[in-house]
Amino acid sequence: MTLKKWSATASAAAFVLLTLSSCGVLAGQGTDGRGNGTTPTTAASGPGSAAATQAPAPTPEPTPGKGPACPTVRCTSVLVTGDMLVHAQLWDQARVDAAAVGKQGLDFTPLLEGQRAYIEKSDLAICHQETPVADPDGPFSAYPSFNVPPQITAASKNVGYQGCTTASNHTIDRGTEGLVRTLNALDAAGLKHTGSYRTEAESQDILILRTEAAKIAVVEGAYGLNGQYPEYAWQVDMLDAPTMIAKAKKARALGADIVLGVMHAGDEYASAPNAQQQETAHALVDSGEFTMVYGHHTHSVLPIENYKGTWIVYGLGNGVTELSPWYVVNNEGLLVRAQFSQDASGKWAASDLAWVPSVIVRDPYRWCSVAADTPQGQCAGAEADAATRLRTRTVVESMGAADAGARELILSDER
Ligand SMILES: [Zn+2]
Repeated sequence: MTLKKWSATASAAAFVLLTLSSCGVLAGQGTDGRGNGTTPTTAASGPGSAAATQAPAPTPEPTPGKGPACPTVRCTSVLVTGDMLVHAQLWDQARVDAAAVGKQGLDFTPLLEGQRAYIEKSDLAICHQETPVADPDGPFSAYPSFNVPPQITAASKNVGYQGCTTASNHTIDRGTEGLVRTLNALDAAGLKHTGSYRTEAESQDILILRTEAAKIAVVEGAYGLNGQYPEYAWQVDMLDAPTMIAKAKKARALGADIVLGVMHAGDEYASAPNAQQQETAHALVDSGEFTMVYGHHTHSVLPIENYKGTWIVYGLGNGVTELSPWYVVNNEGLLVRAQFSQDASGKWAASDLAWVPSVIVRDPYRWCSVAADTPQGQCAGAEADAATRLRTRTVVESMGAADAGARELILSDER
């Protein structure tokens, strides 16, 4: 859609509002500036149309969104994080945190609390629910066959996430029952989800999340299911470029302005994407259907690449995890916020890509930002934090991300 068409549509919408206002029909038509794509008719340039041509074209209502200054009229920002990987030490912490404020049960909110300040500076936040959840009172289990407290979903919602992806190598750890229980828990928490499904009909749907300025579709795929087989193939979205591209096309047909491709893939504890990740991500971008591609699974931060003008965030590391005594990268993660803006032709593309290095600390267990402005103070100590910052930056920028414009997100610089 060109800006000219956009103005013409807004004109038409304003006219409808004027003519209908006397009978009280004010459904807010045209206020989102998108209209119905009606093209201007030639009548406006014909004889006797002076009034029409002289009428000032209304300016589309600016929707700059949260985050950095919007370089165009309409922007929206999306924040993503890695695996919500809940182990025994984390649910022990959640019990202590609940008791500390006189509550029964488990509260994971303090664990995630540090993410809230970033989520508040984003229009949409999407998490990754890596594992199935159990009933609220358990029994719980961790690796290798996860069945974790469902209270993690309420905490995710509480700190501001609006949706989560659910396709992972652990999705069917507890069979169909666990899969269904997890989606029910997400529903109960008020979180949207995609990646696994209760019914075949549900598996045909595309998750499209709305912000003030845009409709954002999420298309996910997991590389495998740890050698397990789902009861029905449609229960989990698998990593397959042609399938994901077909879904993206469907999302576009349904009106999505922005399509996010999400890959649950990679080699555990690696610091570079593997061939499957690179080939799939490039195929998604080459299709022209995806506005950004990002991923998780490896329990380590992976590089960010700008491929033909589109950002690929290969690995966000862990969103939350128990500390690993063996793998320091397991304890680190990346929070990424992308700002998308709409150009005069109507196309949406990333206009800013900012990342936050993070680490999990214990006693008590907390997600902690090690960004340069230290929004939560010291995390694991000055020396350890500096090491995490250096390690994360080195990996993130190892495929040219800094030269392509990706930057560290400094909350204290935000408007
Ligand atoms: Zn995984």
